[in-house]
Amino acid sequence: KRKQPLTVDQYVDGILQGNRTILSKAVTLVESNKPEHQQIAQEIILKCLPHSGRSIRIGITGVPGVGKSTFIESTGKYITSLGHKLAVLAIDPSSERSKGSILGDKTRMEELSIDPNAYIRPSPSAGSLGGVARKTRETIILCEAAGFDVIFIETVGVGQSETVVHSMVDFFLLLMLSGAGDELQGIKRGIMEMADAITINKADGDNVDRAEMARVQYMNALQLFPPTDSGWKPKVLTCSAFRKIGLDKIWQTINDYMSHVNENQYFQHKRNEQSKFWMYETINDQLKSNFYQNPQIKKLLATFEEQVLNEELSSFVAAKDLLETYYQNQKEQE
Ligand code: GDP
Repeated sequence: KRKQPLTVDQYVDGILQGNRTILSKAVTLVESNKPEHQQIAQEIILKCLPHSGRSIRIGITGVPGVGKSTFIESTGKYITSLGHKLAVLAIDPSSERSKGSILGDKTRMEELSIDPNAYIRPSPSAGSLGGVARKTRETIILCEAAGFDVIFIETVGVGQSETVVHSMVDFFLLLMLSGAGDELQGIKRGIMEMADAITINKADGDNVDRAEMARVQYMNALQLFPPTDSGWKPKVLTCSAFRKIGLDKIWQTINDYMSHVNENQYFQHKRNEQSKFWMYETINDQLKSNFYQNPQIKKLLATFEEQVLNEELSSFVAAKDLLETYYQNQKEQE
């Protein structure tokens, strides 16, 4: 006997009651590319929206090996011990689930994954960065409606993903190591500029002094950066995710930041800007995918590409012809 699928209202009620099984099912719908799943997902999101937004959204980035999983595990346990409910999400658009990929392997967060006040969800599977990011952003809404008041979003700090994570979080934390230069760590200056705090991890054992030195160096480096829009002066801290040292200071810093941006109203301003950004992102994404998924366009693309390569057609004329074909095709469908 097949089970009846849940109705939208059953999904929404389950989520609002904090039912994790139903939350997970709803997230699966969000992540699905099937139009009928997307349809239900969008209705669920719409009904959850009024119950969302009341959380601290924290982006966590750093190169593989810096200790992100360890940090999320120990800081996560600390935060839930204070009575918070924590959701851990990830953005990892890489198709290869190699070692170092995020949250692919839940055993990396042994304690947190069985904590009743934590919810861990790996990155949506491979797709365009924009697509993966949109799904994560929608998942944030569902998690908040389910009562999670702290959201971690993890990403590997080597590519484009941090910019996109930055566009959906309130606070951006960059994990670094002492001893390795910025270049070695693959951290671009732009990523450092986005950070509301930098934490030198692995400040334990005979690494404590070096971590402290690195902390001073990064502090000095940050002095040279232009002032932030929020008026917040980014902090540099040290911690040991492994030995659970300095995690309380990081949490305190995040709370100080939240007070700061609530007082000067930057918090709401940034959330508004992000909502706007995501509206346009979604429009752009869907226009693009609608164009490239169009059967007629799909057929023509290869031919046009070849003609451009053979210099029988200029790039611009090719683009214009293709777009006109697409518009014509849209009109005929109406
Ligand atoms: P990720 O790739 O950024 O998620 O890094 P992991 O959390 O998997 O950590 C990479 C390695 O560094 C593991 O062997 C950890 O045990 C180790 N590690 C993480 N945090 C610390 C720390 O605070 N101190 C020390 N000594 N080792 C750590």
